[in-house]
Amino acid sequence: MTLTTEGLTKTFGGVRAVSGANVAIKEGRVNGLIGPNGSGKTTFFNLVTGLIRPDSGRVLHQGRDITGWSPHRIAHAGLGRTFQLCRIFPRMSVLDNMLVAVRRTRLRELLAGTRATAEVERARHWLHRMGIDHLETAEARHLSYGQQKLLELAAVFMGDPGLVLLDEPAGGVNPALIDRISALVRDLNAEGRTFLVVEHNMDMVMNMCDHVIVFDRGAPISEGTPQAVQADPRVLEAYLGV
Ligand code: ADP
Repeated sequence: MTLTTEGLTKTFGGVRAVSGANVAIKEGRVNGLIGPNGSGKTTFFNLVTGLIRPDSGRVLHQGRDITGWSPHRIAHAGLGRTFQLCRIFPRMSVLDNMLVAVRRTRLRELLAGTRATAEVERARHWLHRMGIDHLETAEARHLSYGQQKLLELAAVFMGDPGLVLLDEPAGGVNPALIDRISALVRDLNAEGRTFLVVEHNMDMVMNMCDHVIVFDRGAPISEGTPQAVQADPRVLEAYLGV
């Protein structure tokens, strides 16, 4: 297992956003994480990537207990993520966005006008993979929303993550780009990277994922192949709220 959670729990006020969640993510798959609104998917992502701390339970990454680690340390350990609302620096160039993604401390070097050559090459490689290398010198705010999403995705790979968490990659993106992102994820998966994807676009989930985990009320209620979870009456019940 590349990622395991044991009894992961987080309460906000009286709301149990994540409730004793036991999740096991096998290496090598494209995993989907679905569930009705408010079922705890985003909170689960935030717990796993260190943005918030659990009230109880543990997060293990490749057998190592990473519970309570800072987001930076977790990213450094090979667990990358994107955000539902793209997180980039709008007034920085595309290339500089890639370079600050490596380490925040690089900011000082960037401001001083020095850049490590190997990192620039790596940045160009990933921009090329995402098909936005021609935009290298543009300020990020001048990119289309879809291009900004590709930039955020490219920046995640600067950390060379073995496991990548994608938060709604299809959100606000046109159908052609959804297909392109799906194909990219499949290619990157074939190269050995594992994915966990929160996504509302069911077509994308069903086409892209090998395995789907369904959350309801803060914990998994079903998992299996896309076909199996679609046919599971518990999943239908969760979505219908009956
Ligand atoms: P999902 O991503 O599946 O839509 P969330 O993790 O966003 O679900 O939310 C799970 C539950 O926790 C919801 O009831 C939501 O209102 C609540 N919640 C999430 N974050 C907070 C917060 N920061 N403060 C208060 N309640 C929150």
